Amino acid sequence: MSVAPHRNVLPQWLSPLKLAAQGVVLKGVVLQKQMLRLADALTSVDTPISVYLHFYCDDFGFRIASGQVTAQVRLYCQRCMQEMEQVIAADVRWAIVANEEKMKALPKDYDPWVLVDGEGDLHAIIEEELLLALPIVAFHDMDNCGGDQRYSTGNVVELDKKKNPFEALRELKLR
Ligand SMILES: [Zn+2]
Repeated sequence: MSVAPHRNVLPQWLSPLKLAAQGVVLKGVVLQKQMLRLADALTSVDTPISVYLHFYCDDFGFRIASGQVTAQVRLYCQRCMQEMEQVIAADVRWAIVANEEKMKALPKDYDPWVLVDGEGDLHAIIEEELLLALPIVAFHDMDNCGGDQRYSTGNVVELDKKKNPFEALRELKLR
């Protein structure tokens, strides 16, 4: 496994198949300017999005990019409707496929990263993962919240996690 020279800002477009063949580890940040869907879901993304990705071939011959994506975001507390900070961390694992045809041949438990003319759009796939990782409802800790303290949130969060519509969507997509 070789380690790519440290680059602080990762490019939007990569050649993931090549990176997997070389066993490259990428560490850096992605600037979120172009992530419009993510910007819509939040009041802001505070810092560059941190990315750690290991590219490799797994035991079944699939090219994989796996690692973690972390972003500090601001969203609205659903109790007091004030802004709150939250760190979103998503463990990611994508199977790199050259086209839609190859994607259909993937086993169900692989998340596809479909390339465009051999190139992978890092911004698009990271944005998708962060959207999936966002909480449906967010609340301050009780001590820090100006909202009505009678509402207990513990159970609400649990229930919503089980019914996360993004998850349902994702399952549909993978079928
Ligand atoms: Zn609050």
